[in-house]
Amino acid sequence: MEEHDVNVCVPGEREQMVLEKLQSTLNRAFRHVPFHQERMREKGVDPSRVDRIEALAAIPFMERRHLSENYPYGLFAVPLRDILRIHTAPGTGKNPTVTGYTAQDLKLWQEIVSTALAHAGVGQDDILQISLDRGLANWGRDYKQGAEAIGASVIPNTLLSLEKQLMVLRDYRPTVLVTTPSYAIRLVQHVADRGVDGRELALRTVVMVGEATDDATRDLLERRLSAVTWQHYGLTEVPGPALAFECESRNGLHVNDDHFLPEIVDPANGANLPRGSAGELVLTTLSTRAFPLVRFRTGDRARILEADCACDCRLTRIEWLPGRTDDLMVVRGVKISRSQLDQILCRALGFLPQQREFFVTRHHGRPFLEVRVGVGDELFSDEIKVLENRVQSVKEAVEEDYGVPAVVRLQEPRLFS
Ligand SMILES: [Zn+2]
Repeated sequence: MEEHDVNVCVPGEREQMVLEKLQSTLNRAFRHVPFHQERMREKGVDPSRVDRIEALAAIPFMERRHLSENYPYGLFAVPLRDILRIHTAPGTGKNPTVTGYTAQDLKLWQEIVSTALAHAGVGQDDILQISLDRGLANWGRDYKQGAEAIGASVIPNTLLSLEKQLMVLRDYRPTVLVTTPSYAIRLVQHVADRGVDGRELALRTVVMVGEATDDATRDLLERRLSAVTWQHYGLTEVPGPALAFECESRNGLHVNDDHFLPEIVDPANGANLPRGSAGELVLTTLSTRAFPLVRFRTGDRARILEADCACDCRLTRIEWLPGRTDDLMVVRGVKISRSQLDQILCRALGFLPQQREFFVTRHHGRPFLEVRVGVGDELFSDEIKVLENRVQSVKEAVEEDYGVPAVVRLQEPRLFS
């Protein structure tokens, strides 16, 4: 674990290190990415003159729509020949999110994930199973590499049926499970339905990713599975998981601020909030080469915790709060935008229905994206048949784009709220 413990500098030195990394990120972004250059020029920011961290506040935010607008490679800060891996994830605009990694970036992500897992006590005696939906498949790869780097035996990512998952838990005896809270809850219900006592399983650690969770849920998971839960926070855009993680105190998440600079802003006006206030988490990358993010608005709610943690690590600690500051829905850790769903409807149906509603619903405890489309009396029955076929194509498009299951229903207009 020592090799992951990089927090040896005193606060003054640490601030200087963060400033130097920030200067280097801003300079690189300015020189190599026209998007960043234009925005800094507009605000009169000369990155070579940034001499304190607070100067960052003069630079405009990056939002998810900018990732879509610069599709596919517009935000890369290195030439493609230096890119070793390209990840694509469901976007929230009209295009997928495309991110790249240099060799150095891949090594960095491996280190970031290893650090987070090591803080959850994962070591080389562990068997670690990854169970993530298709929409979070990239994270699955990152967890695999991070866990392998600390010598754990890894069962790589496949989201199994609950029965098969239970079989894996019983027969392969993983000690660590990396999954979303939604899947863990379903698993707990299934384990109880099958009359299995959590103490019969070897599982002792559940790493929860993709969604914020509450104490009651954690308590239930821990009691039923006889395991300890750990929260990891990541972004599919940065790109990577575990950039904030719980240490052994499990009292807030430490942001890996050797590599990410967190800010908390007022989501309404973008102003930086005083330490301790709840607001929107904004992140700037300090180390990634290929895909720098400068003041990226995450849409996640958090606050910075003031008091030092009981552990000896001095990384900034945040409380990850439920809910979002934007209108994205989160289904099994995958972010989905309503405006993009409108586009899918339009494409599949040939028109945008006046009445439409989107929900996250559960069926037998499984979260689904539910789409309700209003159909009026003006349609003849054969037209309804045609519509029903098209509805099927909406379902397929949503599942294809996001990798999460969807149900689409036609509904009488009077039933809309
Ligand atoms: Zn701590």
